[in-house]
Parts: sequence; structure tokens; C-alpha cells
Amino acid sequence: MAHIVVLGAGVGGMPAAYELRAALGKEHRISVVGDGPRFAFTPSNPWVAVGWRKPDDIGFEVAPYLAKKGIEFRDQPAVEIKAAENALVLEDGSTISYDYLVIATGPRLAFDEIPGFGPAANTHSICTTPHAVEAWVAYQQFLKDPGPIVVGAAPGASCFGPAYEFAAILDADLRKRKLRDRVPMTFVTSEPYIGHMGLGGVGDSKGLLEAEFRQRHIKWITNARPTEIRANEISVTEMDAKGQPLTEHTLPFKYCMMLPAFTGVDAVRKVEGLCNPRGFVLIDKHQRNPKFPNIYSAGVCVAIPPVEATPVPTGAPKTGYMIESMVAALVHNIQSELAGHEPREVATWNAICLADLGDTGAAFVALPQIPPRNVTWAKVGKWVHPAKVVFEKYFIRKMKTGNTNPVYEKYVLRALGISRLKAGPNVVES
Ligand SMILES: Cc1cc2nc3c(=O)[nH]c(=O)nc-3n(C[C@H](O)[C@H](O)[C@H](O)COP(=O)(O)OP(=O)(O)OC[C@H]3O[C@@H](n4cnc5c(N)ncnc54)[C@H](O)[C@@H]3O)c2cc1C
Repeated sequence: MAHIVVLGAGVGGMPAAYELRAALGKEHRISVVGDGPRFAFTPSNPWVAVGWRKPDDIGFEVAPYLAKKGIEFRDQPAVEIKAAENALVLEDGSTISYDYLVIATGPRLAFDEIPGFGPAANTHSICTTPHAVEAWVAYQQFLKDPGPIVVGAAPGASCFGPAYEFAAILDADLRKRKLRDRVPMTFVTSEPYIGHMGLGGVGDSKGLLEAEFRQRHIKWITNARPTEIRANEISVTEMDAKGQPLTEHTLPFKYCMMLPAFTGVDAVRKVEGLCNPRGFVLIDKHQRNPKFPNIYSAGVCVAIPPVEATPVPTGAPKTGYMIESMVAALVHNIQSELAGHEPREVATWNAICLADLGDTGAAFVALPQIPPRNVTWAKVGKWVHPAKVVFEKYFIRKMKTGNTNPVYEKYVLRALGISRLKAGPNVVES
């Protein structure tokens, strides 16, 4: 019998646990170790921050649902990974040993990289649901006495989509409230151009998102390096194409939400030889750590090099479907290893993203996500907003039922040529 421990009960960890359960015989034990009792559907956080969702709409306590599938849950964050001893030390001092470890711990939010940054200082965040709740409280105060808004993403950020979404959602919400005329808005981003998104663009994402921002009177500063954020004011150095200072800006604000750079979480980043210098888990093409081959990883916590050098550093995003493809590969590979074979499955890292823009949206398909690509497609349309609402309900239901690869995904996406695993002589799609 093998014990497989999944670290992190998020968008990567929950499907990993369910898919491991479905793939492995009952003789194998599967546990999830979480930091808190709840799953939260992070992509809905921007809606929580404007009061369009309550935290209970987008999350639930995981233990009973995992238990139905025979998966144990420990609500105790890991504080140390003793990789050489195949054991985790949890916050309560207990240890849990494993034969295989799946790290799906998501990001640590690096607010400490800019003075005055983050919800403990002068800006709001939508990165976690508790942050989004705080942002909603502040937004309600803001609505009583509106003024300038700054939204954006910091140097080293890799997750740009939610910044675009939040700027457009705020714009849509303020228009509905007939307050938009009192709110100058500026988008401040480390990207070299609008729509780059850490990906060198997807199709004409530059043209599409610039047009959206122009239509919505949202000004922007690209190649932006915020130097300090004070209460109600941000100092930003705009860099030129060579990464040299070009223009200094001081922007007043009454409400500011900026996405930070990510690093690996402490318990993961301090393991010698497991991670790159930013604390992201090093993996081979089979999602397996080269130094500790019984450690696999999926999600935001894995190390992926930036798509291209940019004047201000940007990272490559790890999006939901890409994460699901990482999960599919690692589940098959652990299954192979338990059967005495070498891992052989490789994730496609395809991306299908729906970015909600409040009353419309942008859809992106990038196969694979990292260029050069076989397929690139981007479109703005009103249908994206309801489609994202449907996807939210669908994903949360999937995380409750444990049916992680329903018929729709298996056949419809495959008919569209979108699969989670790279085709090859030995490959069986999950
Ligand atoms: C605001 C926002 C919106 C996004 N929207 C989209 C979108 O629309 N589409 C898309 O494709 N992608 C989106 N993403 C990107 C990505 O899909 C999400 O970030 C996704 O949640 C990443 O999944 P994950 O499992 O890597 O991390 P998470 O879902 O964050 O899960 C990590 C889990 O690990 C837990 N954890 C951390 N440390 C420990 C520890 N020491 N011990 C135990 N547990 C621990 C955390 O509490 C958390 O539950 C968005 C990201 C953000 C931040």
C-alpha cells in the first residue's frame, strides 16, 4: 500500500486528490493536507470584491466531500517538508509520512517587495477570498465618497488576467451605480504592453484589451515599476524598452488594487534543492522533481521560466486548464510508478481562459499556453460573462462530486482538439 499526500486543497490539489482516488486501487491511501477547512474558487474573487458574490457562493468545507471518496483531510498547514525522510511536519507539531507527495500549495503573495504594498498596508487584494472580502468592505466605503482608482500588477507578477478583469468589473459596477463619472481610472502594469499577460500576448489580445480600456476611459501605464505606495498615493517609474527609467508618475487614489509577484510558500521554498530561487518547485516534463523523484507538483507553485525577457520582469501565468493538465499527467505517472513502470505522461499545458469584463468578457485559447503555439484564438463578446458564471457553478460542483473529468470535458474538448495529455504511443487520455 502506498500513501499519497496532496499538499494544498485548492484548484490544483482538489482535482489531484479526486483523480488519484479514481485512478488508484482502494489499497492505496490518499490524504489532503490543507491550510484551512475550505476550498475557494479563486477566479470568482473579483466578484466577491464588488459584492456580486458572497464567500459561501464560491467555496465550501472540503472534509465531508473528500471523505465520501475515501480521502482523508488534515486541516493543518505543513510548516516543513522533510523531503529526505518522506515526511511533512504540520503546524500542530504532528508529522505525516508519505510515499508520494503532490505539492499544490499555490502562491505566497510577495507584497513585501514594494514599500506600502498589500492589504496590511495601503492597497487591496483579490488574491484570496478573505482578501476579496476586505476589498469589498473598503469598496463600500469608497462608494460613499468616490475618487481615483488604480488597478494593476506589480513587477514579477505572473497572473495578469484578474487585474484586467477587476479594472473592467469596477468600471461596469460604477457605471451601474451612475458613479463612473466621478472615478478616474488608471491601469498600472509591469507588462510591456496592454494584453501581454506574461504570455507575449494571445492572438490580438493587445488590440482587444486596449480597445476595451479606451472604450471604458481607463488610462494605462505599461513597463511600470511602483517604487512606493503611500496612503492614497502611488509612485511609479515608467521604464523604457531597455529597462531604463523614462518617466516618474505620482498617482493619487482613493482605492487601489494591485496583484503582487508570487513566490513559493515558506514550507516549500526552504527545502534545499526542491525549488528555484523564487521558491517554485522544479519539475521535469512528467511533473516530477528531479532531486526528490517521489515529489510531484502542479499549479501556481511550479517553476516555469518567463516566456520572454521584458523591460520590467513579468512571469508566465499558470491558468486553470493548464493546471488540470498538470494534474492529469502526474496522476497517470504516479499510477505508472505504482505499477512498476517509469512515468511517461506529459501535460499539454493548454490554456482556455474566460476573462470576465463585468458586462462582457474576453475568451482566449492558447494551445499550448507557452509560445510558439499550434492554436491561438482571442475574442471579446457579451457571451463570455454568462459563460464564466456557468463555468464557476460547473467547477464548484465538480469539486463537490469528485467527478473531475466529466463526459463533456472528455468528448467535447477532445472533439475540439483540446486534451490534457500530449499524444504519444503509450498515452491514454484520462
Ligand atoms: C484572483 C485570481 C483569479 C484567477 N482567475 C483565473 C481564471 O479566471 N482562469 C484561470 O484559468 N486561472 C485563473 N487564476 C489562476 C489560477 O487558476 C488560480 O490561481 C488557481 O487558484 C491556482 O490553483 P493552485 O492549486 O495552484 O493554487 P490555489 O488554488 O491557491 O490552492 C493552493 C492551496 O494550497 C494551500 N496551502 C498553501 N500553503 C499550504 C501549506 N503550507 N500547507 C497546506 N496547504 C497550503 C492554500 O491554502 C490553498 O488552499 C486566477 C488567479 C487569481 C489569483
